[in-house]
Amino acid sequence: MNKFEALGFNNAIVKAVTELGFESPTPIQEKVIPVLLEGNTDLVALAQTGTGKTAAFGLPLTHLVDFTSRETQAVIICPTRELCMQITRDLQSYTKFIDGANIVAIYGGASIDNQSRDIKRGAQIVVATPGRLNDMIDRRRVNLTNVRYAVLDEADEMLNMGFKEDLDTILSQTPEEKNTWLFSATMPDEVLRISKNYMENPVEITAGVKNQGNDNIEHIYYVVQARDKYAALKRIADSNPDIFAIVFCRTRIETQEIAESLIKDGYGADSLHGDLSQAQRDQVMKRYRSRSLQMLVATDVAARGIDVNDVTHVINYNLPDEIENYTHRSGRTARAGKKGVSICIINMKEVGKIRVIERIIKKKFIQGTIPTGFEACEKQLFSLVSKIHNVEVNEAAIEAYMPKIYDELKDLSKEDIIKRFVSTEFNRFLDYYKNAPDLNAGAARGERSSTPGITKLFINVGELDQLDRNSLKDFIVEVSGVDASSVTNVEVKSSFSFIEVKAEVAEIITGTFKNQRYNNRAVRIESRGSKEGGEGRTRDRGRGGYGGGERRSSGGGSRGGYGGDRRSSGGGYGEKKSYGNSDRSERSDRGDRGGYGDRKKSYSGEKSFSGEKSFSKSSSSTGGGDRKSNFSREKRPRKQL
Ligand code: AMP
Repeated sequence: MNKFEALGFNNAIVKAVTELGFESPTPIQEKVIPVLLEGNTDLVALAQTGTGKTAAFGLPLTHLVDFTSRETQAVIICPTRELCMQITRDLQSYTKFIDGANIVAIYGGASIDNQSRDIKRGAQIVVATPGRLNDMIDRRRVNLTNVRYAVLDEADEMLNMGFKEDLDTILSQTPEEKNTWLFSATMPDEVLRISKNYMENPVEITAGVKNQGNDNIEHIYYVVQARDKYAALKRIADSNPDIFAIVFCRTRIETQEIAESLIKDGYGADSLHGDLSQAQRDQVMKRYRSRSLQMLVATDVAARGIDVNDVTHVINYNLPDEIENYTHRSGRTARAGKKGVSICIINMKEVGKIRVIERIIKKKFIQGTIPTGFEACEKQLFSLVSKIHNVEVNEAAIEAYMPKIYDELKDLSKEDIIKRFVSTEFNRFLDYYKNAPDLNAGAARGERSSTPGITKLFINVGELDQLDRNSLKDFIVEVSGVDASSVTNVEVKSSFSFIEVKAEVAEIITGTFKNQRYNNRAVRIESRGSKEGGEGRTRDRGRGGYGGGERRSSGGGSRGGYGGDRRSSGGGYGEKKSYGNSDRSERSDRGDRGGYGDRKKSYSGEKSFSGEKSFSKSSSSTGGGDRKSNFSREKRPRKQL
């Protein structure tokens, strides 16, 4: 017997959940469903988003409601339009095989007349945001006098957003004998007050510990200098080629700035914040859901209720003002039993706040190390290789070009072709990252672990050039004429290598390699850390910022993209002068510190549920600058390997 059938659901519902791929109830569903199906009870359930709580109340509701009647028998109230639409979609899918079922969403920012018309047709279940529901009750567009079930979803968020009075008014309009089911991720006093005022001996169910996050989330923090935050964000993104993230910022302006910098730097990103019209929000969300965006940069309020599966990373670009919001933020990943990572990019002074969060979520953070530029390169390289391996070839379209392509490449071996093909993209990353600094706070810039008297050199050849430690060492000794004992260590990576040499011969080696070729490829060798480089360090890096390098000079700094091979390696990344947005990120970081100055209070204790105040504060602090539309901007292809 199907596990949902065993719980007592009718055939139509069992068929629907089977079609949805639900095989067995989630822990919260296991606890809640039997209680609700028993009927006639009030319920207070502590449950995080992503645990399957919508089905925990939605399935019993669709089982208990009489769909042969046209009366409104149930009302579900939730904080945001997104959540409202999501719940409606979910319930519609549960009732797919029930004739006459009409579940209607009502929320602000859309035509009240259309919504009234939908309700008039006979909506047995109404899913609503508090403001619009109140409005429609006032205008007598909705009749709640026959309601038998009232569900309050994400009650803490509704109170947090200032819907307390709306909720009181709505609940007082519904019959006293109805059952009320309240779901909340946290249990501040305000939520308990609702349960006391409107419920009778509610059954209390907890899935997980109070305020505790999801077990499938790994919590990591990175300590960087304030000015390196933006570079750290990009390094994290580059080291996770399949990233699908929500980046949380504190203010609307900051979300715009970060999103715009990311767009300029070639990432699929956009911002979601309170200044957007509903149509703009919908458009951003549509692009995010369809994965046209890799990173959604959002404020807490704007991200409320977003239910997107498969979010791989939640990135706290700034820590939230209210600690409870950390749970809400991180709950956007690791949904429906999947795994996810919640990252905080902080400065040294904020480590104490991480400890406070750890105490509240009852989970330990791991202190991460921001990957080096070369680690990011390697991740990108192997992601590219796997993409090449898995790409679907359009045989019909490419067939006509193949003879010419074969002809062009006929003098190259298979190994050479692979190397060159991969290098068209890889070189760009390598060039970009070659002098990238260590972004971890406290680390020395440039070379990290240098032994006195020893210089570490980078060379752009490696295993892919069929070199190993010995042959590379021989090659260097032969070309430079230095004594073999001067080369103290050789570390061969896939497409590049590091060589440690006695400091006194470093210049001889770099000098003799100026015009050197290996297997017909220009070889570049240089001291790591000899230049201050990398993301966001200098504004004037501009096109082809780093001098030298035959690959770059051959092309004259085009705008990059996917166009040329060597050209794009210089032009493409060189052009990223928005790394020079360091001034931008510094500006926002300065904002951070100021922000924390007056918001510190909210970190002082667990019960800082003074939500309304800090939300209005954060919204006013944005200053409401006009959003420069990203919609019109043509999205540059992500500079991926
Ligand atoms: P929720 O906590 O309601 O936002 O649900 C999170 C996700 O879990 C949604 O995408 C649901 O479709 C999915 N889900 C809910 N119940 C189950 C179940 N029993 N088995 C598999 N997936 C589920």
